[in-house]
Amino acid sequence: MIPVPCPADRARHPNRPTPPEYPMTDLHPFIAGLPKAELHVHHVGSASPRIVAELAAHHPDSKVPTDPEALADYFTFTDFSHFIDVYLSVVDLIRTPEDVRLLTFEVARDMARQNIRYAELTVTPFSSTRRGIPEQGFMEAIEDARKAAEAELGVVLRWCFDIPGEAGLEAAEETTRLAVDLRPEGLVSFGLGGPEVGVGRPQFKPYFDRAIAEGLHSVPHAGETTGPQTVWDALTHLRAERIGHGTNSVQDPKLLAHLAEHRIPLEVCPTSNIATRAVADIEQHPVREMVQAGVLVTINSDDPPMFGTDLNNEYGVAARLLGLDERGLAALAKNAVEASYLDAAGKRTLATEIDTYTTNWLERTGR
Ligand SMILES: [Zn+2]
Repeated sequence: MIPVPCPADRARHPNRPTPPEYPMTDLHPFIAGLPKAELHVHHVGSASPRIVAELAAHHPDSKVPTDPEALADYFTFTDFSHFIDVYLSVVDLIRTPEDVRLLTFEVARDMARQNIRYAELTVTPFSSTRRGIPEQGFMEAIEDARKAAEAELGVVLRWCFDIPGEAGLEAAEETTRLAVDLRPEGLVSFGLGGPEVGVGRPQFKPYFDRAIAEGLHSVPHAGETTGPQTVWDALTHLRAERIGHGTNSVQDPKLLAHLAEHRIPLEVCPTSNIATRAVADIEQHPVREMVQAGVLVTINSDDPPMFGTDLNNEYGVAARLLGLDERGLAALAKNAVEASYLDAAGKRTLATEIDTYTTNWLERTGR
């Protein structure tokens, strides 16, 4: 089993291009200070070079360089196999509960620097417990990091435990058991990542049924590298409440209308889609059609350091693609709050913070 990050279908795209670079616009200072929520971002996939250097320093036998300059080179992706090499070497650095805690807290620190106030982090516990990290120790580590991130950084974290689809039903069983029997306090949702091709959604129904019965929200990846039928399958069989990516939903107007009518949000990750070639050209990204169809669109970063991006950059990309000004960006940020699994009071607080920040910004800049 290769623990492939989202989307594991990268094997179909062996010549992964370097993500495009986007020019800074005058909206970036606004975006940088805008309070934000992120709903689609992966735990290990969020390990920045800084975090990897810290982990590597704890495990000097690893092949990962600890010198910042060498590490920056190491993180400059050339192709798919290099991406997998780097990803696996990061996985190899996470060996103990203390590594899990360090990774989680430091990911929150990187979020705080972007003024991300709330994040639902997709965690794949199967990958860690399979590698020998004690399951109870794993849960304690993420929970300890969550509480510290909230107290010390002002970043509220929640968990989505996801099944690595490529590892099959054994991983589904194990992930469900960990979610249900060892349910950590911060766990709010249940997901399915990995490849879509050859990994049909319906087979995971019994596991999603169990997770949903325990009060977890259903948030599978679907329609990223396969067509709209996968999204329909996720809705029908897995009772999806939000869709990871859902990029190819635009191929089916009835599906778009269904998503809009039932307020089923899409977790859109523009730069990831280009990096994996799920979308050929950023100028052709279907986020416009989604918005035009009335779908609740949220903007996310997926595996940000691995795609050379972060959430602020993704908001900049979205602003350009959708022609948004500050008010439009604030509305986009509030979409993520609405689509989140924060409680009602938390949603109100964060939405008010976004409004206050935006009003103050517009007054100060005379816009
Ligand atoms: Zn993902």
